[in-house]
Amino acid sequence: MAEIVLDKVSKTFPDGTSAVQEVNLRIADGEFIILVGPSGCGKSTTLNMIAGLEDITSGELLIDGERMNDRAPRDRDIAMVFQSYALYPNMTVRENIAFPLKLAKLDKETINRKVLEAAESLELTDLLDRRPANLSGGQRQRVAMGRAIVRSPKAFLMDEPLSNLDAKLRVQMRTQVSRLQNRLGTTTVYVTHDQTEAMTLGDRVVVMRGGVVQQVGDPQRLYDHPANLFVAGFIGSPSMNFLPATVANERLRTALGDLPLDVRLRARLESADAPRELIVGVRPEHFEDARLVEDGAKGFEFEARVDVVESMGSDKYVYFNLEGPRASSAVLDELAADSGANDLGSSGATTLVTRLSAESAARR
Ligand code: ATP
Repeated sequence: MAEIVLDKVSKTFPDGTSAVQEVNLRIADGEFIILVGPSGCGKSTTLNMIAGLEDITSGELLIDGERMNDRAPRDRDIAMVFQSYALYPNMTVRENIAFPLKLAKLDKETINRKVLEAAESLELTDLLDRRPANLSGGQRQRVAMGRAIVRSPKAFLMDEPLSNLDAKLRVQMRTQVSRLQNRLGTTTVYVTHDQTEAMTLGDRVVVMRGGVVQQVGDPQRLYDHPANLFVAGFIGSPSMNFLPATVANERLRTALGDLPLDVRLRARLESADAPRELIVGVRPEHFEDARLVEDGAKGFEFEARVDVVESMGSDKYVYFNLEGPRASSAVLDELAADSGANDLGSSGATTLVTRLSAESAARR
C-alpha cells in the first residue's frame, strides 16, 4: 500500500501542448481517488505520469515518500488496468493472470495459489482455461483486474476500465470494482470521463479541466458545494440549471421569478465588491410540479414550456426551454407526475415550482 503525492506536477509535450499544469494532490494510503473531466482535460496524462509511462516535465512525484520521477515503471510497484484490457491473446486466462508473477520469478506453487485466489475473488474460476477471444467484454475486464491484483502491488492505476462495456455490465462491474477495492484496501487512482462513475466509486474526486484541477473533494461535497460553474455543471445528471440573476430591490431576480434575500445574504451580495450580475444554480430535482406543492413550501412558481419528457421509471426528466438556446431540465417524481394533477406526457405548458430558497441558491 502507498501514499502518492503529486507536487506541482506538470506535463508539456514536445509539440508544446500543455496537458497538465501544476497538479497538487496527496492521495492517502488505501484511498480510492477518481480523476474526472471532459475529453482532453489531462486525466490520462496525469495517470501515465504516476505510472511512469510519461515523463514529468516539472514537479515531483512521491510514492511512500520516495521520489519516483526518474524511476522506471516496473520499479514503481504499481499495476495498471486499461480500457483496452491489454490481455495476451495467445495465453489462457490462467496464463494471463500468472504472467506478472512469472516475470517476478515466483515458484510454481505460489503462482498457482495466487492465480486461484485472484480468479475466485473475480468469479473467473470456471474460465481459467479459456483464451481472451472466447470471453465476453466483462469477463476480459475481470481478467485484466485479476492480472493487476495478483501481485499485490502498492497501488492500482485504472484508465477508463469500464468504458468498453455495455451500460448494464458497467453498472455491475462498478460495484465489483468498489467491492474489490474495499476488500483489498489498495491505493487506487481511477480515470473516467463519466461523472456517475466518479460520484459512485471514489472516496474523493478530482475534477480537471484544461490540465488544471478545478476541485478536489468527496462526491457529496462536490455536488453540494461546487467550487465554480464548471464543476457545478459537470457533476450531476441531468446538469444543474444556470439562471442569470441580478440583485434588485432586496430580491434576487431571475427570468423565472424572484427570490427574497434574507438579511445575511443581502449584506453579502450588496457589499461594494460583490458582482451585480450573478448566476443562480438550480439542480433539476429542486423543481417540483407546482400543483402538488403546499403553498408554504414554495420558492417561486413559473410556467415552463415542456420540450421533451423522458421517463426513467422512478423519475421523469422534464426538459423545458428558457430564454435563449439553453435547455433546462427538471427531475420530477414519476408518481407525482402521473397522478393526474399535471399531464406531462406531451409537450406543452406546465407549471413548475422551485423549492429553492435564495440562501441555498446562492450557496450552490
Ligand atoms: P480522454 O478522456 O479523451 O482520454 P484525457 O483527459 O485523458 O482525455 P489526455 O489524454 O491526458 O486527456 O490529454 C491531455 C491533452 O494532451 C490533450 O489536449 C491531448 O490532445 C494532449 N496530448 C496527449 N498526448 C499527447 C502527445 N503525445 N503529444 C501532444 N499532445 C498530447
